[in-house]
Amino acid sequence: MSDVVVIGGGQAGLAAGYFLRRAGLDFVILDDQEQPGGAWQHGWQSLRMFSPAQYSPLPGWSMPAQVGETFPTADHVVDYLQRYEERYELPMHRSVSVTSVRRENDRWIVDTDAGSLNASVVISATGTWQSPYLPYFPGQDTFTGRQLHTVDYDSPDMFAGRRVVVVGGGNSAAQILAEVSTVAETLWVTRRPPLFMPDEVDGRVLFDVATAREAARRSGRDHDGVAGLGDIVMVPPVQAARDHGVLDRSPMFDRLSPTGVSWNDGREHECDAIIWCTGFRPHLGHLSGLGLTRENGHPATDGTRSIDHPGLQLLGYGDWTGFASATIIGAARTAKPAVAEIGARMART
Ligand code: FAD
Repeated sequence: MSDVVVIGGGQAGLAAGYFLRRAGLDFVILDDQEQPGGAWQHGWQSLRMFSPAQYSPLPGWSMPAQVGETFPTADHVVDYLQRYEERYELPMHRSVSVTSVRRENDRWIVDTDAGSLNASVVISATGTWQSPYLPYFPGQDTFTGRQLHTVDYDSPDMFAGRRVVVVGGGNSAAQILAEVSTVAETLWVTRRPPLFMPDEVDGRVLFDVATAREAARRSGRDHDGVAGLGDIVMVPPVQAARDHGVLDRSPMFDRLSPTGVSWNDGREHECDAIIWCTGFRPHLGHLSGLGLTRENGHPATDGTRSIDHPGLQLLGYGDWTGFASATIIGAARTAKPAVAEIGARMART
């Protein structure tokens, strides 16, 4: 029996662990991976952060700079997360998969493939990486080339000399397009015209905006007045792709054929592969038995707290659980008030 069970040992789960430890609460962190690092251990080979290390601090101990690199590699982030859990002696339980969460006699029962746990509060921090989103288009099953999602992409090598369509208007699409275009003929397809941040803006601005919003929230001011951000960070490879004319986008196609993609106006484009960088959905199958109220396609929350169950917190996932909550700085910022709320609740009960 624990006060709190945290499901997910990525950056969001670790940030929660830091504050739970500080609050003196009894807790465990369950993670279904064998190794530390959450989704950062699964990205493609060249994946890097879009800001220097010091702009992505988890609470208590900032990420050290990576020698010789301005933008840390994913391996460096994984190393940081591993050292972070060791430093704060977080009670990690690995290779434990949570299958369901349910209520019994005013307590939570967390069922896992290694048995069940009992808790007063559950924090779900399971990220999105395990729930890739693939839209459906007519003819999708007839395409004879290769189709893969961001989660399946590793490096551009396998596309050398091929014709590749990259779908999606976010950072994953822009970065994968940039490197595939160095070895293949590419076409970039997006639903809406992409929004690019200015060249001189990187994740540092995200840090500043998160800080300004947090200050506004604390002083009770309207934080919507604080500037929003574009979608695509112009990291050096993406700038190079733009300079080579690679970022010229086409509108979304209407269907697939055995040999490529086509539009309702009669335009056709032949290709050997389609990379779907079409994003992710919150990975929340373990909560499906709770019948949570949904809002805009995800469980309805007040901040990070489920509106259905005050003892259920959701951390990470996206802006619906707090500004930039799926980034490292955002994870830190949202975990703090969430744990403060849990502490107050535990004190009352
Ligand atoms: P995750 O890292 O996915 O951790 C969740 C953990 O829960 C995983 O270990 C998972 O296996 C586990 N889990 C899931 N389901 C269960 C279950 N049922 N039972 C037990 N365990 C479970 N962020 C930044 O801050 N800076 C950047 O520069 C940056 N760059 C990015 C660039 C790209 C191209 C992309 C795609 C993302 C980037 N991000 C960046 C975003 C962000 O840091 C990651 O998405 C991050 O991994 C989210 O952390 P998380 O803890 O919420 O989820």
